Amino acid sequence: MLKDRRALVTGSTSGIGLAIARALAAEGAEVILNGLGDPAAIRQLCEELGATHNGANLMDPAAIAGMMEEVGPIDILVNNAGMQHVAPVEDFPPEKWDSIIALNLSAAFHTTRAAVPGMKAKGWGRIINTASAHSLAASPFKSAYVAAKHGLAGFTKTIALELATHGITANCISPGYVWTPLVENQIPDTMAARGLTREAVINDVLLAKQPTKSFVLPEDVAAMAVFLCGEAARNITGANYTIDGGWTAE
Ligand code: NAD
Repeated sequence: MLKDRRALVTGSTSGIGLAIARALAAEGAEVILNGLGDPAAIRQLCEELGATHNGANLMDPAAIAGMMEEVGPIDILVNNAGMQHVAPVEDFPPEKWDSIIALNLSAAFHTTRAAVPGMKAKGWGRIINTASAHSLAASPFKSAYVAAKHGLAGFTKTIALELATHGITANCISPGYVWTPLVENQIPDTMAARGLTREAVINDVLLAKQPTKSFVLPEDVAAMAVFLCGEAARNITGANYTIDGGWTAE
C-alpha cells in the first residue's frame, strides 16, 4: 500500500517509533530510521527493515537541518522521538525542561519546516506526530512533558490548516501508557516523587489512568499510523486520535 513512499520516523530505534517503522516497512515504504542506540543493533535493524539510519541528535536544530538535507524529499514524516522527566515543578531541573521542549516539541517544527516544500512539490504528504494523552490532559510532576505535548497538538492543528489544500495531512496519535523503555524508566522517579513502591506506581498511578487496565501496545499505535498514511485517510487532518484505554474520556 505504501510502495514508492519514503518515510522518516524519528526516535525509531526503540518502542513506538520502531513499531511504526516496522509497520511502514511491511507496507512497502522505504524507511529512514532515526534515534540513538547501540550501532550494531541499529545496523541489524536496518538490515531487517531494508532501512537506512540517521543518528542526528534532535535536540540540536543544526543537526536536524543536516539530517533533513541528507535524507532529501520524504512523503511521510513521523515525529515520534521523545523523552520524559518526572519531578515537582520547584525541583524540575531547568536543563531537563529545555531538553524536553527541544526534543518533544521543537524538533517537530524543525523537521516539518524542512519536509514541507518537498511534500508540496509532490502534492502529497503525511505528517504524523506522536503526541500523548498528555496532549489533552495533565498529570502532576510532568510539567515539561505536558506543556510540550499540548504544544505539539496545537502545532499539528496549525500546520493541518496551512497544508490542507496541498494533499498533505497532519495528525496526532495520542497514546495512553504504552509499555516501552520511556515508561519503564520513569518508574523510579515516580516512586521517589510520590513515595510509592514499583507495583503501586504501575497499578495505582499508571494503569489507574486507563479504564481498560491494560497497557497499549506499540503495534496498536503503528496500525493507526499506517491507516493515516493510506488514501482512506486523505480527509483526516488536524485530528488528535487517542489510543488510551478510555483515559481522556473521563
Ligand atoms: P522510547 O524511549 O522507547 O523511544 C524513544 C526514542 O527516541 C528512541 O529511539 C530514542 O533513541 C529516541 N531519542 C531519544 N532522545 C533522542 C535525541 N536526542 N535525538 C534523537 N532521538 C532521540 O520511548 P517511546 O515510549 O517509544 O516514546 C516514543 C514517543 O511516544 C515519545 O514522543 C513519547 O512521548 C510518546 N508517548 C509514549 C507513551 C508511552 O507510554 N510509552 C505514551 C504516550 C506518548
